[in-house]
Amino acid sequence: MSQTPEAANFIKNIIEEDLKNGKNGGNVITRFPPEPNGYLHLGHVKSICLNFDMAERFNGYCNLRFDDTNPEKENEEYMASIKRDVHWLGFDWKHLRHASDYFPQLLDYAWQLIDKGLAYVDSQSAEDIRVNRGTLTEPGKNSPYRERSIAENRTLFQEMVDGKHPDGSHVLRAKIDMASPNINLRDPVIYRIRHAAHFYSGDSWKVYPMYDYTHCLSDMLENITHSLCTLEFEDHRPLYDWVLNVLETPCHPQQIEFARLSLEYTVLSKRRLIQLVTEKHVNGWDDPRMPTIAGMRRRGIPAGALREFCRKIGISKADGTIAIEYFESTIRDYLNEHAARRMTVVRPLKVTITSLPDDHEEHYQLANHPQDESQGSRSVPFSNTLYIERDDISEDPPKKWKRLAPGQAVRLRGSYVITCDEIIKDADGNITELRCHHDPDTLGKNPEGYKANGVIHWVSAKHALDCEIRNYDRLFSQANPMEAENFLDTINPHSLTIIQGAKTEPAAPAEAGTVYQFERLGYYAVDPDSTADKPVFNRTVELRDGFK
Ligand code: ATP
Ligand code: MG
Repeated sequence: MSQTPEAANFIKNIIEEDLKNGKNGGNVITRFPPEPNGYLHLGHVKSICLNFDMAERFNGYCNLRFDDTNPEKENEEYMASIKRDVHWLGFDWKHLRHASDYFPQLLDYAWQLIDKGLAYVDSQSAEDIRVNRGTLTEPGKNSPYRERSIAENRTLFQEMVDGKHPDGSHVLRAKIDMASPNINLRDPVIYRIRHAAHFYSGDSWKVYPMYDYTHCLSDMLENITHSLCTLEFEDHRPLYDWVLNVLETPCHPQQIEFARLSLEYTVLSKRRLIQLVTEKHVNGWDDPRMPTIAGMRRRGIPAGALREFCRKIGISKADGTIAIEYFESTIRDYLNEHAARRMTVVRPLKVTITSLPDDHEEHYQLANHPQDESQGSRSVPFSNTLYIERDDISEDPPKKWKRLAPGQAVRLRGSYVITCDEIIKDADGNITELRCHHDPDTLGKNPEGYKANGVIHWVSAKHALDCEIRNYDRLFSQANPMEAENFLDTINPHSLTIIQGAKTEPAAPAEAGTVYQFERLGYYAVDPDSTADKPVFNRTVELRDGFK
C-alpha cells in the first residue's frame, strides 16, 4: 500500500534547526509524562507517538515518567496499564522514572528558593488564596504572610515537612508577582500539605510538590532537551522558565506546545472517562466503545493503525477536531491490508443442496488474504447443508439483485454456483430453509461462457462454530458531546448490539485480539471472553460499503 506523504510537524522542524545549530550537544531527549490517574486514551497516543518518534528519528531517546504528585488520585493499576499500553503501541522507553523519585531533590530546590527569598509559607485559607489571586482583569493582592523572614519561612516549612500541621493550614508559594498579567505567575503554590500515603513513594511525605514546579525540575533532572506538551500549558511556560532560571539549573529544557487531539463522537479526558467507568455507562476501561488504548485494543484496532493515524494528522499549533470517518477509514485501510479473511454468517438461514448426498464433504484451501500470499491459506469444509445470511435471499428481488432468488444462481465464495429451487416457510410465513442444487462444473471458477450472478459467503452447517457477535456503534450520538449541558445525556443507547447464534467457519478462532475481515461484513476481533467452543467477536469497523 502506498503511504500517505508525511504530514506537517513543526516540532520536527524546530529540532532539526536545533541540531543544525549544535544546541544541546546534538542530543534529543524527550519524555512521555502521564499522571497515573486513569487509563491512557487516543489523545495520549498522539503524544506518545510524537515523543518516541522524535527521539528515534534523531537518534536520541525517550523516557517514560509517571507524573505522580497527587497521592489521592493515583494507583498501581493505572501505572501498570500505562506501561502495558505504551509497550503495546510499539515503543520502549530508555528510563522509567517517577516524579516522586525526585521528591528529595525537589525539596532541596525548595529550600534554595526560600533561602533566596523567592518562596514563602503562606497561611491564608485556600479560599483567601483563591480570592486574592485576582482575575484576568484585576491584579492579585499580596498575602499578609508574603514578607515573612527567611528564618520564619525555614521554621514553618520544616514543620510542614515534618507533618506538624494539618492539611490546608499552610502552603509554600513562589514569590514572583501578584500583579502579573499571567495568573500562573501570581505567587503560585509550589507545595501543599497532604497527610496521605502515596501508592509509590509510601507514607513518609507530608508535603507534595505541585505539578508546575515538579514538571520543569523533573525535565531538567533527566536532561530533557525538548519538553513537548499540549497548548493549555502555553501560559505555564513562563513559570516553567522562571523556576529553572532562578535556580540556575545546569540544563534548561525547551518547552514546546502543540494542539491536543480531539475526535468527533468521542471524549478525550481522563476525568470524563473515569466517570463513564465508575458510573457503569460502559463495561470498564477496556470496553471496546472506549477511546482508551485498552478499549481500542480490545475492539481490534491495531497499534500500527493508531501510529499511522498519528503520522497522518501531523503536529500543529492549531486546535481542531478530526472527523470520525477519517479515523475509521485509516483503521479500515490498515486492516484491509493486514487482516486475514474468514467467512461468518451473522443471521443464519439453512440451505440444503439437494443435488448432494447427506454424507457429502469437500475441503477447500482458501487463501487467507487476496493479495498477501505470506498469510497462507486455511481449510474450509463444505457439505450439503450450509448457512447463508438471511439477507441473501429475496422472494421478490429488485432489479440487479446479485444474490439468491427463486430460480436465480449465485456463487458460494470459493465453491460452487448454486440455484435456488424452493423456499420453505413456517406457519407464520417466515422463511426457514432454501432448497438449492449445485452445478458441478463451477467449482472455484466459471466454465467458458458462464457468468454467475454474484458471490455470497456461507459456512457448512455441521462444521461451523456457534459464536457471539458484538456490534458497536458510536458511544455518543452527538459529534461534540462536550457541547451538551451534560455529556452523559448524549450517550447513544444503541452503542452495543449483541447477536447470539452466529456461525463461523471452524478455522476462525485464534488468540484474543486477532482481527479478521469477515467477508462482506466488516472487521472483527476475537474478544478475550471467547471460549474454545464459543468464540466472541467484536466488530472493529464496518466495510466501507456494508452489504445491507
Ligand atoms: P486528560 O485531560 O485526559 O486528563 P492529561 O493531559 O491530564 O489528560 P496526562 O497524564 O497529564 O493527562 O498526559 C500526559 C501527556 O499526554 C501530556 O503531555 C499531555 O499533554 C498529553 N495529552 C493528554 N491529552 C492529550 C490529547 N488529547 N492530545 C494530545 N496530547 C495529549
Ligand atoms: Mg493532567
